Amino acid sequence: MNERASVLNGGVSYVRPSATSPWGTFIAQVERAAPFLGPLSYLTETLRWPKRVLIVDVPIEMDDGSIGHFEGYRVQHNLSRGPGKGGVRFHPAVTLEEVMALAGWMTVKNAAINLPFGGAKGGVRIDPKALSSKELERVTRRYTSEIGPIIGPQKDIPAPDVNTDAQIMAWMMDTYDMNTGLASTGVVTGKPVHLGGSLGRVKATGRGVFVVGCAAMRRLAMPVEGARVAIQGFGNVGSVAADLFAGAGARIVAIQDSGGAIANANGLSIAELAAHRHREGGVSGFPGGETIEREAFWDIPCDVLIPAALEGQLTAARAARTTARLVLEGANGPTVPEADDILASRGITVAPDVICNAGGVTVSYFEWVQDFASYFWTEDEINDRLARIVLDAFEHVWEMAAKRNVPLRTAAFILACERILKAHAERGLYP
Ligand code: NAD
Repeated sequence: MNERASVLNGGVSYVRPSATSPWGTFIAQVERAAPFLGPLSYLTETLRWPKRVLIVDVPIEMDDGSIGHFEGYRVQHNLSRGPGKGGVRFHPAVTLEEVMALAGWMTVKNAAINLPFGGAKGGVRIDPKALSSKELERVTRRYTSEIGPIIGPQKDIPAPDVNTDAQIMAWMMDTYDMNTGLASTGVVTGKPVHLGGSLGRVKATGRGVFVVGCAAMRRLAMPVEGARVAIQGFGNVGSVAADLFAGAGARIVAIQDSGGAIANANGLSIAELAAHRHREGGVSGFPGGETIEREAFWDIPCDVLIPAALEGQLTAARAARTTARLVLEGANGPTVPEADDILASRGITVAPDVICNAGGVTVSYFEWVQDFASYFWTEDEINDRLARIVLDAFEHVWEMAAKRNVPLRTAAFILACERILKAHAERGLYP
């Protein structure tokens, strides 16, 4: 911001990042790309300002008759390239700064992969595991009503994220339709298939991690067969990536989730682990592996590390310890900027979130297109198109990294920011 605008703005704005927050990480990542943006670099400031931030109160009647109030958000970070697109997270640690960062990463991801979307994200600060199914439905419906004025198939299209799934998307779609009188399926993606959802969407993010991972391993001359893979998070993204890597002959040597960590140097059976998690709610106590201390997960000898839980997990200390040669970011924002520097100095390649986990939003894009056309594709068509789009983006990012001599993350940000800021410049500043 220039000095005069800064003085006129006054005070401390919510857009000013605290150093260690996810929003701070996002801003630092933008700053690393800015010197490479040439004549567009003067526009970079716009990425520090989310276009629209909505904070809502979500009051619901609890099963015991009391009234609970929950704080919810929907942030539209940038809409220069199209309607907002990004998931909704239900988690007890959700904050506005976190949702702003996640929305910013969606802006960059959608541009890096070249989808016709801007970036958005939503969240409710709630522990969904402490709610009954009826309470969860009431939270979902009231939250959807509150953010209703700013969402829509051509405005902003939510999707699943941490602790939200196809059922929650069905409730969101139904609430939107009840409020608007429309029969609109394209307002959310990640819906059940028989309600206008897309085949392949549930597994799309993990599949994208696998496809990008194999491409990165080819570039690094690392065979997938026999590779030792450690994964943080065994939810939608982590479990699918684990299954696909194991199916390709890799050994999943350790998995950590919110309840604990397990290891097996010979490789964990992913099908048995998935059944155990289904029964027990987490990976802890799995008889096919040895229980390890949570922190010991980061020391497990491995070739590939897949953080697929939450942001900020790969800290500087953990980056200094990991034995992996390749980090595949299944989660959004798992690596803090200091850890990026340490990994780069140790010669460890990071396939950044904005490419590596973009399979999910890519199939969300397919779902949105199919909903408009009311014509649905086969799963093979979807998986082929997914692989083509993410691989194409990955190769462009790899070439940009080589050309500019920067890490893959900065290369992805350069490519994405060029597209976003060009769109911004061509639209011009309203009014
Ligand atoms: P999920 O709710 O299905 O699973 C989350 C997993 O992370 C669970 O196994 C949970 O136990 C684990 N976890 C949570 N907190 C943890 C902690 N402190 N330490 C270790 N493990 C922890 O969520 P998901 O959809 O798999 O999302 C995981 C990440 O991937 C998030 O960063 C999300 O934003 C990102 N992502 C998801 C999608 C998608 O399509 N679902 C798309 C792109 C990116």
